Amino acid sequence: MLPYGRQEVTEEDIAAVVRVLKSDFLTQGPEVPHFEKAVAERCGARHAVATNSGTAALHVACLALGLGPGDILWTTPITFVASANCGLYCGAEVDFVDIDPVTRNISPDAFAEKLQTAEKAGRLPKVLVVVHFAGRSAEMREIAALAKAHGIRIIEDAAHALGGAYEGRPIGCCAWSDITTFSFHPVKIITSAEGGMALTNDAELAERMRLYRTHGITRDAAKLMHDDAPWYYEQQALGMNYRMPDVLAALGRSQLGRLTRYVDARARLAARYDQALADLPLRLPLKDDATHRSAWHLYVVELDDAQGAPSRRSVFEKMRASGIGVQVHYIPVHLQPHYRRLGFGPGLFPAAESYYERAMSLPLFPTMTDADQDQVIDALRGILG
Ligand SMILES: *Cc1c(COP(=O)(O)O)cnc(C)c1O
Repeated sequence: MLPYGRQEVTEEDIAAVVRVLKSDFLTQGPEVPHFEKAVAERCGARHAVATNSGTAALHVACLALGLGPGDILWTTPITFVASANCGLYCGAEVDFVDIDPVTRNISPDAFAEKLQTAEKAGRLPKVLVVVHFAGRSAEMREIAALAKAHGIRIIEDAAHALGGAYEGRPIGCCAWSDITTFSFHPVKIITSAEGGMALTNDAELAERMRLYRTHGITRDAAKLMHDDAPWYYEQQALGMNYRMPDVLAALGRSQLGRLTRYVDARARLAARYDQALADLPLRLPLKDDATHRSAWHLYVVELDDAQGAPSRRSVFEKMRASGIGVQVHYIPVHLQPHYRRLGFGPGLFPAAESYYERAMSLPLFPTMTDADQDQVIDALRGILG
């Protein structure tokens, strides 16, 4: 089966990991700060805090922004569940903003409308988690202006978007947000096996995220409140153990060297899909333009019933039967049983639900050959043509 995504681990990556395995530090050594610095520099942000998953990065980001019981977090329904769960972890309420059917990202119009209603009801969110779906930046200029006008903090969940750019600046620079988070899960743009990172330009937020990453414990002499003994440390907040091991930071840093090559390879394959599928009854993803340079984590087509496409289910099953590992990203979060139990259900976010009915992700990864891709194209043409 040709998978929808596949990591590449080189001999160089393996050597980097082995070097750490033979060193004194498996965790909390020099590799984590090296990796943090490398990602921060690549993205143009001042501070970076590595964690043991992208989900952990979202959680410490929410905690650092002070999200807690009585607060509200908004995000998009078309995302992985972690973008919403981070709000629930903090005891906050979660709600969703519908997508724009063309960009598949949070719709600035839907956001503006929902803000009006929420303001009247005195139920404005404290935090908005903006997801750059499939690697293409959301409309940050419009979204950030609306959020700022209402005192809402922004976390960019850029799990799909490392290596992408918006208005000519790398995603992760935090020009439009308080914090940007990444994931280094193997299907994402680069991998550290499991891992994540939170970037910010705010020194205080960075310090708080570091505290929450390590049990809420500090050894910083300037911060200690009750003693100064040489063995002394203090737990000053309720944190977690969300540290990235040094072994994995070495893998991530080694992979980071290939980021540009990876995103270029993904963009080339995406353009090749654009050409080969243009005449089929499909809605294709938006192409890159002067404002948006996607990292092309996913290539999602929508079966267009208006143009006579068969159902997504039948196409999905036939693709799988031909050995093509198509996937669906994502089942809208508000339709998950856990969220239905919180009062959500069908009909609440029509653009997201309509997208979900039709969406199918085609295989896309940097080591995919043209022959691999032709196999996908031929199978799809055979089913739809
Ligand atoms: C993968 C992903 C996450 C979670 O990352 P993990 O490293 O798997 O915890 C969060 N948000 C989005 C949009 C993702 O795709």
